Amino acid sequence: MVRKKRMKEKYIEGKGILNVVTVPDMETLDRNKDLEYYKDIFYQCGKCGTCRTAYQENGWPRVCPSGEYGKFEAYYLGGKNLLTWAKNTDKLKWTPNLAHIFYHCTLCLACTNQCQIPEIHNYAGEWLMRMREEAVKQGLGPMPEQDIYTANVLREKNPYMEKHDDRLKWLPKNIDLTHDAKLAYFVGCTSSYREQSVAIATAEILNALNVDFKILKDERCCGSPVYMTGQKEKARKIAEENITIFKETGVEKIITSCAGCYRTLKDTYPNIFGLDHGIEIMHLPEFLLEKLNNDELKFTKEVNMKITYHDPCHIGRHMGIYEPPREVLTKIPGVELIEMDRNRHNAWCCGSGAGVRSSFKDFSAYAAKERIEEAKETTAEALLSACPFCLNQFKANIEDGEITALDLSELVKKAL
Ligand code: SF4
Ligand code: SF4
Repeated sequence: MVRKKRMKEKYIEGKGILNVVTVPDMETLDRNKDLEYYKDIFYQCGKCGTCRTAYQENGWPRVCPSGEYGKFEAYYLGGKNLLTWAKNTDKLKWTPNLAHIFYHCTLCLACTNQCQIPEIHNYAGEWLMRMREEAVKQGLGPMPEQDIYTANVLREKNPYMEKHDDRLKWLPKNIDLTHDAKLAYFVGCTSSYREQSVAIATAEILNALNVDFKILKDERCCGSPVYMTGQKEKARKIAEENITIFKETGVEKIITSCAGCYRTLKDTYPNIFGLDHGIEIMHLPEFLLEKLNNDELKFTKEVNMKITYHDPCHIGRHMGIYEPPREVLTKIPGVELIEMDRNRHNAWCCGSGAGVRSSFKDFSAYAAKERIEEAKETTAEALLSACPFCLNQFKANIEDGEITALDLSELVKKAL
């Protein structure tokens, strides 16, 4: 492996992880390879513990929800690397406990961002996924609750145990849709069934911008909750069905307000499943920033509010989108953005992703409450995110009403 000179920052195409400034550049490895391919890399882990804290940040704040809740080395990345190596060298056999450790993780990748070994920094996320996929092959994954929601995704096209026929119930009559539009707003399951205010605000923003767009009558789960729990082949089939629907309905561009859908459609479909759909995928803040920069979007109302912004893992560390949401929010008149100590690549995960919320409820709530307390310390009135799943998680875990959880789309709507 040839190392190049140190660079300030690197974005790996299709991988999206922004490097910490101190990590040396490296030859790009392949993604989506099996454990054998990565075996010399995960053995490089020195068990130094650097992945537990935000590297070189003031106070070295903790970043790994799994390790902090589990309070045992196996739950941090260093421990998972050692277990992966032991499994891959036949020193360890698959057991339910081993599978449990790899599922007790939000796959937030805060750990990989801190590790200063470039190969681990950039690729540990690959073998964390492969270990889940291996657990599924061994019949030890997914976790029982994930199995139940997967059955509903396959039957009713959503993981919320809801009916597919009810998916568009949120859609108000005043939304103008252009049924032959080439642009689709992909709503996603969480906004369709649980956080419908995000779907309504996004559709109203698109209407206010006079954008020709449609919402697919047969929209269905993107497959993220299935893929992230190691069920790659089932998720690939869902992806193939979705791409068929996109093609049959003439979709050339998709906007989504969900971080998980964005990552799945933009990265997982082409780069993991090899399904090169050729459709442009944008996350809502990227689209709004483009419109602001072209003077097509203007904020006319003042929204006097002190806010803090939570980076969703699936657009942040997974896809490198940190600045567009901040740029949109700070252009709203009257909005004051106060950052939490752990922000951007150091953000503490909300605790809902990768099947954790369904299967490890106490761990998931612990992670959310930690983030909510951090948000309250900023004195902000609202904790903003750009993902309905983060929003849903924060709403479920704010107990005292001292701070409000909102989505970026809802704040933008107030300013129109
Ligand atoms: S993954 Fe990196 S930071 Fe974590 S223990 Fe191993 S070498 Fe250290
Ligand atoms: S992905 Fe997140 S939860 Fe999992 S080990 Fe890394 S920091 Fe901890």
